Amino acid sequence: MEALSVKEIAEAVGGKILNGDENTKITSVGTNSKNAELGSLFVPIVGERVDAHDFIQDAFANGATACFTSRHTNVDREDKVYIKVEDTLRALQALGTFYRSRFNIPVIGITGSVGKTTTKEMVAAALATKYNVLKTEGNMNSQVGLPLMMLRINSQHDIAVIEMGMSEAGEMEKLAAIAKPEAAIMTNIGVSHIAQLKTRENIRKEKLNIINCFQKSSVLFINGNDDLLSELYKDNNNHLSDLDICEKTREKYLAAKVTAFGTEEFCDYRAEKIQTVNGETHFILRKKQSTNLGMDGDGEEIVLRVLGLHNVFNALAAIAVAEQYNIPVTTAKAGLYDYQPIAMRGQIKEVNQVKIIDDSYNASPDSMKSGVHVLLELDGVKRRIAVLADVWELGELSRQLHYDVGVYIADQKIDEVITIGKDAYHIAQAIRDKKADIITQTFFNNQEVITYLAEHLKAGDGILIKGSRGMKTDEIVKAISEET
Ligand code: ATP
Ligand code: MG
Repeated sequence: MEALSVKEIAEAVGGKILNGDENTKITSVGTNSKNAELGSLFVPIVGERVDAHDFIQDAFANGATACFTSRHTNVDREDKVYIKVEDTLRALQALGTFYRSRFNIPVIGITGSVGKTTTKEMVAAALATKYNVLKTEGNMNSQVGLPLMMLRINSQHDIAVIEMGMSEAGEMEKLAAIAKPEAAIMTNIGVSHIAQLKTRENIRKEKLNIINCFQKSSVLFINGNDDLLSELYKDNNNHLSDLDICEKTREKYLAAKVTAFGTEEFCDYRAEKIQTVNGETHFILRKKQSTNLGMDGDGEEIVLRVLGLHNVFNALAAIAVAEQYNIPVTTAKAGLYDYQPIAMRGQIKEVNQVKIIDDSYNASPDSMKSGVHVLLELDGVKRRIAVLADVWELGELSRQLHYDVGVYIADQKIDEVITIGKDAYHIAQAIRDKKADIITQTFFNNQEVITYLAEHLKAGDGILIKGSRGMKTDEIVKAISEET
């Protein structure tokens, strides 16, 4: 972050300086008191369970120079700066908005039910071949994380690739107003957070607010293989009026350029001849319109060090964005080849001749299907086993959504499905109901699975491990990763 004075900050957020010199310089902003440092502004977020105002003293003890507060009327530390605000989260968002507007760099916003982080990493890898890129750190895509990311922009950055996540109505609109993306990618419309938003159409409507701050030259990149997104694309503006989208979005949509990526014939960036070769994905990229940025009519072979059709989509998005920012495919693809999955998110390792897909970081019904797809693509394995634990936060639809995952798996060439938990049980139930030729085992805790696998796994197996964070399926990965 480039330094701001306390006066500038207070003005930007409509706050009042309760104590301290208004010329004091602030050089970083954070919400975790443990990471506070000299020159930092601590923002105490008021959560459902924890009110971080309780940690202001900790932040100061760790060196913070200033804090926002909605609680204090007088100060406990004369040597520190207190800025009184009505609502600390809103103040952080106002500060993020103010700070972002000081930098005239393009922000590329990425949203979607799954694939945001992976797409962000791939887009950043492609853009980094030409630009100094700021990218969202980890998963900081929320109402708190996104303004904090904006505050990391500095004058060295040419472009920012920002993950934008939402779980409720109204959230994307706020994020778009802060980040003001000039281009946006929508990876898919799935069922994450469907408990709050009820239907996938509602999720589409909310996510589309990502384009609310689009300018004339803006481009929306959508996954043409997603039924609800392709509906938007193919609509050709004819029936937009029938689609349930916000008025403001409609206007922006009509003015924007929309580019589709995927495997469907109509896609502007299309992958064909997708295959796994020695643990890597190869495909041929075809473009509807040839640009002057390289590539002849024969298409270009792209190689990724990750598996799964979903990663082909993510890579296509990255190539399309890179071209939009004047990077030829031949250059972008070299950047993409550098991309490798992060720990616990689809990393593949081999222990005792068993190939393990460690996707234990988190799960949604959509990403479970993607994980299964990677399992199907593992080359050189004799048996394919999926260990699938409960996906949380699906509300009253949970059992049905798990059942639907089972219906999907029933048609795939998987040898065995092991479920963990009461909801994941319904994945196995669907497979049994469909009378698929897949062995099912249902367990209710990780230890049982670890004991079962210790007896059961053998050389030549391929195994996928996936479940919600809270199910701690990394315990299973750890147990089966121990060399014998
Ligand atoms: P979160 O909401 O937790 O931030 P995310 O949207 O950032 O999730 P990722 O972390 O990129 O998603 O991917 C999560 C999982 O979803 C991956 O491990 C993979 O199995 C699957 N996945 C990744 N990209 C896609 C995609 N484009 N379509 C479907 N599934 C995907
Ligand atoms: Mg993410």
